[in-house]
Amino acid sequence: MPDHKIAACVLGATGPVGQKLVALLARHPLFELVALAASPRSAGKVYGEAVHWLDPAPLPEMAAALRLQAAVPPLPGNVVFSALDSETAREVEPLFAAAGVPVFSNASAFRTDPHVPIIVPEVNPQHLALIDSQGFGPGFIVTNPNCSVAGLVLALKPLADTFGVEAVQVTTLQALSGAGYPGVAALDALGNVIPFIAGEEEKIEQEPAKILGEVVDGQVQLHPLRISAQANRVPVLDGHLLSVSVKLSRTAALAQVRECLQSFRGAAVSQSLPSSPPTPIQLLEDPLHPQPRRASEAGGGMAVRIGRLRRCPVLDVRFVLLVHNTLRGAAGGALLNAELAVAAGLLQRPRVSDGAKAVELAW
Ligand code: NAP
Repeated sequence: MPDHKIAACVLGATGPVGQKLVALLARHPLFELVALAASPRSAGKVYGEAVHWLDPAPLPEMAAALRLQAAVPPLPGNVVFSALDSETAREVEPLFAAAGVPVFSNASAFRTDPHVPIIVPEVNPQHLALIDSQGFGPGFIVTNPNCSVAGLVLALKPLADTFGVEAVQVTTLQALSGAGYPGVAALDALGNVIPFIAGEEEKIEQEPAKILGEVVDGQVQLHPLRISAQANRVPVLDGHLLSVSVKLSRTAALAQVRECLQSFRGAAVSQSLPSSPPTPIQLLEDPLHPQPRRASEAGGGMAVRIGRLRRCPVLDVRFVLLVHNTLRGAAGGALLNAELAVAAGLLQRPRVSDGAKAVELAW
């Protein structure tokens, strides 16, 4: 770990995810917030006046006083956290990587790029090695998954390692904060369920295969599991609830599945990162839980809660999983990845841009 804080910049600082990044970075042991950027509409304004602050905790004073900049390099900071919409991220993130800055992105723009890892430190920290083959420049881009996937893979990883996972059926009930700000109009959201979220089912069906895949000869071999997803927007503030059924490769007693989920701690390197929850999965016995209103209580919003674990009469087992979408599913996930990169020694020394020297992970 570095003996001084690493200067950090947030792109897309005014959206719900950017705001969470600002709140988390304002009290982070490894990173120091030095710059904020947003769209040309906001650039030039003082953050405290431009932002419609959503977090229950007050806007940190040091951030409120920063002047928003345009999201183009160079900006102050040695690492960039991106909370840009995907279209803007596709243009802007490679510019920062080309300028030598590591980018930790919440956007989906590069998640399907074979050279860009989608990282969940407990699940696939070794995928960081993929940045070696990126052609962006001396910097690199690391992504965190779609907000539902960030929770789902934490449950699938121990099941896949222990019993094998063949197929997953998942129905999501997704919070309004997942739609950005101002997001879904109140007249559509209130007292209602919207049974469609553009692009969401595709991400839930595709991203886990990459995250659970093996890196062989510098490429991810996709995990062969099949996923069927149905996504719904519900009038909840924060916290996505997922009803999940899983077909396992090997027969397992329910008690074995419970033990497998409960004892999951994740890859060793993930366990000592500053934002890691004490246990990535909290298993609940009360059939009335998990509930979204409690999402941020679980390991500071970084643990998932699983309840209603029972047999599935069609597949093998089923359960309900709760993930905090803007913490574990977005800002907290990006920060955890940057902490992992620090642990791997990737944020302290300049990287070789010609690919001649393979990335060495320090753990
Ligand atoms: P959002 O509310 O749409 O915020 C987007 C941010 O990008 C705002 O700060 C906006 O600034 C800025 N922006 C827009 N156009 C820009 C441009 N041309 N140049 C520079 N900046 C520009 O989005 P969000 O919900 O916070 O999500 C951010 C990203 O994280 C998205 O890619 C989203 O898909 C992803 N994500 C979100 C969640 C979630 O739960 N919300 C979870 C996982 C991943 P202005 O205020 O100036 O317009």
